[in-house]
Amino acid sequence: MDADAIRRSYADAQPRPFWLDRPDAPEAGAPLEGDHQTDLVVVGGGLTGLWAALLAREETPQREVVLLEGERIAFGASGRNGGFMSASLTHGIENGVARWPDEMPQLERLARENFAAIKDAITRHDIDAGLEETGELSFATAPYQAQYIPEMVETARSYGWAAEALDAEAARAEVSSPTYHGAVFLPDSCAVLDPARLAWGLAAAARSAGARVFERSPVTGVERDGEGVVATTAGGRVRARRAILATSAFPPLVRAIRHYVVPVWDYVLVTEPLDAAQREAIGWRRRQGLADLANQFHYYRLTADDRILWGGYDAIYNFRNGMGPHLDERPATFELLAGQFFETFPQLEGLRFSHRWGGAIDTCSRFSVMFGRALGGRAVYCVGYTGLGVGASRFGAQVALDLTAARDTERTRLKMVRSKPIPFPPEPLRWGAITLTRRALAKADRQEGRRGLWLRTLDRFGLGFDS
Ligand SMILES: Cc1cc2nc3c(=O)[nH]c(=O)nc-3n(C[C@H](O)[C@H](O)[C@H](O)COP(=O)(O)OP(=O)(O)OC[C@H]3O[C@@H](n4cnc5c(N)ncnc54)[C@H](O)[C@@H]3O)c2cc1C
Repeated sequence: MDADAIRRSYADAQPRPFWLDRPDAPEAGAPLEGDHQTDLVVVGGGLTGLWAALLAREETPQREVVLLEGERIAFGASGRNGGFMSASLTHGIENGVARWPDEMPQLERLARENFAAIKDAITRHDIDAGLEETGELSFATAPYQAQYIPEMVETARSYGWAAEALDAEAARAEVSSPTYHGAVFLPDSCAVLDPARLAWGLAAAARSAGARVFERSPVTGVERDGEGVVATTAGGRVRARRAILATSAFPPLVRAIRHYVVPVWDYVLVTEPLDAAQREAIGWRRRQGLADLANQFHYYRLTADDRILWGGYDAIYNFRNGMGPHLDERPATFELLAGQFFETFPQLEGLRFSHRWGGAIDTCSRFSVMFGRALGGRAVYCVGYTGLGVGASRFGAQVALDLTAARDTERTRLKMVRSKPIPFPPEPLRWGAITLTRRALAKADRQEGRRGLWLRTLDRFGLGFDS
């Protein structure tokens, strides 16, 4: 396909997340007005904050909870993601093994319990989250990547998950693309869902459990207030005994987060619904969540109405933690993504994209959720999922609740919970290091996975990103 045809394919796409662009999307709730008193204030109405509010009410019904969301529920990553719900709490087993080898059996058991508890909550609260327990199929899109597959299968199986290796023919029989050279199928450790509907459902459940949820209420500051905290918005104040900060990649309310988390922008396209012939032409009858095995990888899945969501590959860090709605659009990335889509599925030439958007990923140097205390222990932050938080956010919220209550639990004893990632350097080094890493990862993909000096140095310090 030529460049003009590629650009035309997304030119008329709505510049907003498909998940939020629904006729039945709930209206944003009322903003905070006046002074309020509560036990726990949660800042952020993404999956982390929503689980924290709901679980806080479920575990201690007499505890009063206020949640403050700056925009609307699921405005951030939770309404912009691919909807892959992985069981992993550690951004994949391999990343967990590299960092907390002794804890991995326990972390994987907790992951399994967390995964089951999310499915249970979806049923119990009757949330129409479009959950499909399809598993995940990851493709080698260059011959050298096929060498990773046997070890991936063995690792998953050693932690009790089902795993299957597929050769090129078997991979293409599942999903029809000329780019596949083999695949690994993980049938029971990943599901796909509609993340915004999950968030809306959790907000409704939290409200009916008694949490007070305010939207359009950006918190401008969280400060000490006697033994507790006070959270301030333009229209009001919430005095609370404790605060949970679930603000992800957004500008942090406490300084510590700034050292550990950077916003890395990731972009997504969604097609129009496929017709019967297009659907037939790609196979994909088992509707698995799909990804590829390169460092710069795509993730893609079918929606309930048979569109293809296609995202990833380009991860963009903007100087000085750049954030804001102007970054939702990135024509160069959309063009790259659209071109790669039609290389993967040439049989879909002529299909158009209906939605395009970007979202900020709360990236930290260990690629999995981290926790910390601020304001003398009155506030707890829970951030840093690095693009794999749809499932782990419930676990993150549980830990944050443990920490706000100063509870000694199995979770709070984990090294994974007690340790912090290596902080990012200040600017301009921060931008330089991240850009260099991104280029080095792209180069490794071009050189059959061979990691250059920079990546090998990062690996030695436990900072190397490896898909
Ligand atoms: C493009 C993209 C694709 C992804 N794909 C996947 C995937 O397929 N699978 C997966 O597991 N994970 C994925 N992720 C990550 C996943 O979406 C998140 O880890 C997960 O949803 C948890 O989000 P959260 O609640 O921590 O943060 P968010 O959903 O970002 O919520 C933070 C909220 O805090 C609010 N906020 C921030 N500051 C303030 C303030 N001062 N006052 C009030 N409110 C404030 C924001 O408005 C926002 O709503 C992806 C992320 C992106 C961006």
